Amino acid sequence: MIERRDRRYTVGAEGEEAVAWDMFIGGEGNPIRRARGERFWCGRRYTCRMQERRQTRQITIGDDRVGRVTIGGGAPIRVQTMTAGYTHDIDACVAEIERYRAAGADVVRVAVPERKDTEALKEILKQVRVPIVADVHFHYQRALEAVEAGIHKIRLNPGNINDRDQVNKVIDACKERRIPIRIGVNEGSIIERKDKQRRMEELGKYFAGHRSGHLLALMIAKLEEYVDIFRERDFHDIVISAKSMDAALVIDIYTEIAARFDYPLHLGVTHAGTKDSGAIRSVVALGTLIANGIGDTVRISYASDHIDEVKDALEMLYCLGKRERKGVDLIACPTCGRIQVDLFTLVKEVERTLMPEIELPIKVAVMGCIVNGPGEAEGADVAVFAGDRRGIIYVQGERVANVEEGDILPRLLKEVKEFEARVKAGEAKLGEKRVEILPPAPIGELGSGHAKIAAGQVEQLTIGRS
Ligand code: SF4
Repeated sequence: MIERRDRRYTVGAEGEEAVAWDMFIGGEGNPIRRARGERFWCGRRYTCRMQERRQTRQITIGDDRVGRVTIGGGAPIRVQTMTAGYTHDIDACVAEIERYRAAGADVVRVAVPERKDTEALKEILKQVRVPIVADVHFHYQRALEAVEAGIHKIRLNPGNINDRDQVNKVIDACKERRIPIRIGVNEGSIIERKDKQRRMEELGKYFAGHRSGHLLALMIAKLEEYVDIFRERDFHDIVISAKSMDAALVIDIYTEIAARFDYPLHLGVTHAGTKDSGAIRSVVALGTLIANGIGDTVRISYASDHIDEVKDALEMLYCLGKRERKGVDLIACPTCGRIQVDLFTLVKEVERTLMPEIELPIKVAVMGCIVNGPGEAEGADVAVFAGDRRGIIYVQGERVANVEEGDILPRLLKEVKEFEARVKAGEAKLGEKRVEILPPAPIGELGSGHAKIAAGQVEQLTIGRS
């Protein structure tokens, strides 16, 4: 984790209110604060920036029928999810896989705890249109059966298959058929319960000062031990993962692994919780790693419909500029005291209606007022600014309608669809602004900062300089 180095400010009233409000913002050692209503700028120089993607080996999974997906080695970061139902329920399993594929999953994993699950694989693999991974937990025979059925990739859990001969048999079978293997360590399955305290102290010494040093050491030791077995058999079609439910530990463990291995990494936070908390936990860890150039495939996992995992993973990658967006890029203001329409309902309705209908990454802005809205919607292709129970709609800066609140949604949808049709016909281009939307002029002479820049009083950006 990177240290913060910025200025320190104090905000808040004195006296009784100070208990609730007086706080430091910025400065070494002070926690990051949430601003209430005002925007604070306290950073002077940041140590974080998007890093170059880490170079890894590349693996390929799939076949002629479902297509081939490359992982690592400069390939786009791939989105994975896992089926929630039983694999032996063939029709339901195929339907579930198809839903995830249609939502954008590049790879789908299925659990094969029993023989009837691997027996179902043959039929499933005939019907699906995306590469499938068989997740093998305890029984190496399931891996051999899955290979026999024509699976595209195997996931082994080193915490649960400890017999070297068994691992060798799986490696040999996969090598013969050129099937990659993910070595997936999970915090929950490697914790040593025998002599737990003594082992924790022993292992913790390897990462002294880290609050979970023993886990870091254990996961890395387990991985190194396992990877050595693969290397001994000259097998390198490997992906590595090391998941924990602790987001901060996930950042540290993957950072360590990235420095030690050149195999592609599958990122994930395990048992992340419900959709709300789990999404935040996953995106914090995975987003940080990806911004640091680490990660070749991702799974965001939480206790919810797995379709949301795919959508959230894609949104995270879009936001980080790691995948090209498909469908509407919706911008909405958070609302404030200037709001004059029911914006939350409007935004939800716009999202619900536009998402399934629009294919192109059209930027649509839904703003609560005409005062700050134009500035905040900068770059939107289609925008609506609400005010006085009405909505003013713009297409690439050109004002096209001024309608009552009840008509905002249908008119906005019509404009977005027509705009998409024009883009498809080559009559318009995404991100092109024909007319500048100008908000009311500010009062007074302050504002642009141009004079300060011209006088050389603004420090140059450090981003992009080594
Ligand atoms: Fe407030 Fe208007 Fe900005 Fe929305 S667009 S947050 S209503 S100033």
